Amino acid sequence: MGDHRTRRVVVLGASMGGLLAAKVLADRYTEVLLVDRDEVTGVSGYRQGVPHGRHAHGLVARGYQILEGHFPGLTEDLRAAGVTPGDFSGDIRWYVEGRRMLPSQSGLVSVPATRPVLEQQIRARVQALPNVRILERHDIVGLVTTPDRSRVIGARVQHRVEGSQEEVLNADLVIDSTGRGSRTPAWLEALGYPRPPEERVKVDLAYTTRHYRLAEDPFGDDLAIIPAATPASPRGAFFYRLPGNDGRVELSLTGVLGDHPPTDPAGFLAFAQSLPVPDIYRAVRDAEPLDDPVMFRFPASVRRHYERLDRFPAGLLVLGDAVCSFNPIYAQGMTAAALGSLVLAEQLRRGEPDPITFFRDLAVQLDSPWDFSAGADLGFAGVEGRRTAKIRFANAYVARLQRAATRDARLTDAFIRVAGLIDPPSSLMRPTTMLRVLRQGRVRATTPAPAAADRLLGRA
Ligand SMILES: Cc1cc2nc3c(=O)[nH]c(=O)nc-3n(C[C@H](O)[C@H](O)[C@H](O)COP(=O)(O)OP(=O)(O)OC[C@H]3O[C@@H](n4cnc5c(N)ncnc54)[C@H](O)[C@@H]3O)c2cc1C
Repeated sequence: MGDHRTRRVVVLGASMGGLLAAKVLADRYTEVLLVDRDEVTGVSGYRQGVPHGRHAHGLVARGYQILEGHFPGLTEDLRAAGVTPGDFSGDIRWYVEGRRMLPSQSGLVSVPATRPVLEQQIRARVQALPNVRILERHDIVGLVTTPDRSRVIGARVQHRVEGSQEEVLNADLVIDSTGRGSRTPAWLEALGYPRPPEERVKVDLAYTTRHYRLAEDPFGDDLAIIPAATPASPRGAFFYRLPGNDGRVELSLTGVLGDHPPTDPAGFLAFAQSLPVPDIYRAVRDAEPLDDPVMFRFPASVRRHYERLDRFPAGLLVLGDAVCSFNPIYAQGMTAAALGSLVLAEQLRRGEPDPITFFRDLAVQLDSPWDFSAGADLGFAGVEGRRTAKIRFANAYVARLQRAATRDARLTDAFIRVAGLIDPPSSLMRPTTMLRVLRQGRVRATTPAPAAADRLLGRA
């Protein structure tokens, strides 16, 4: 059942979503052909097709588990590439509103690889599969269908060299993993199908990132310092060592609703200084910058509800950011792509994938991370959207839980398991967890948060 070993699949986009899909497709198809506009083979740095790749990227716990399942030994390969994995709770300094959530040993792995390093490792593993090939420097131009438009039978591509002609890549299955800018909605419309209903949560977010070489190590045994952006303290940051342990660090500052971290060095430093914890500013204020700050704007989280369509051509699937592009501050995107690869693997086990069933199964996997991040975004007063009573309650409760986690490591654990996409958000409502939140809520904080203390004492 479900063996497509005599056939070819074309995967549009050779980034995280495409690579993970290729891995599971390679078990079932004779040939898996990935197409990308970038040159990707052997590329270890940033690339044009993935401009977000130069900003902080962490793989949350569930994503790590799936990747290690697809590629046993990946952690060791990453270690060899200079990455130091650690505990998702105990080895990361998570701050909310200037206070550290008490660390615990969650047993969940965090991999602080940069995006290019992680992608390169996965690409190398996928390219080593004998039936996988990557067609690089090719623009994807459109789809090819049967005359009655009921089935997609290939894709049109064009080599990125002057004078080249469009070519047709025939395929028994086409997967669109071209990211957020996917043209499947427009292609569907042109073929006479409805576009998927689209949900948008406008956060008007920006990441601004700069790299430094530090003379002194501010991390100690920790892997990263992360002041989380919350409605009460909306400026956030991701600060961690770059692979290699040679004093180089990556600092991504984040700001929502138009409060974007500036790209001029003085403005960038001032934004770092305004964070509710002083650790990051102190570490970089006199450090050697390795580049200029670079900004990436993220206007809105977007979810395309393909599962709500009742007509869709056979032979075409969509996954990764092309289906759902999450607010990146919650670090869910790569894991959502990995979840998509599991849904695809399950579909392939059953036989030829049926798009509608695939999208419905995928939607079940995406519901939790989407509810978690889109719901949390609605906690920011300026974000447009319908705030149901459930969302308002959840946001008030999670804020309280996070504050309580600064005094109770078990609550940090509970939160980290949800943020790591191991447990569903509903797990935070377990009676034992709620009781702990209530108990801690009664203990009023007697000490000011560190940044507030600094301000009171007149320190920078
Ligand atoms: C600032 C920022 C920070 C993030 N941080 C995290 C994080 O910490 N953790 C996390 O899990 N996720 C994070 N994400 C999300 C993560 O980057 C995405 O979820 C992930 O890249 C999705 O992979 P994808 O393969 O679906 O799409 P993409 O990575 O966008 O890849 C699309 C690919 O398709 C190719 N392509 C597109 N159009 C064409 C065309 N017409 N012709 C040829 N090739 C084409 C591109 O070159 C590219 O290789 C972050 C995102 C942003 C914006």
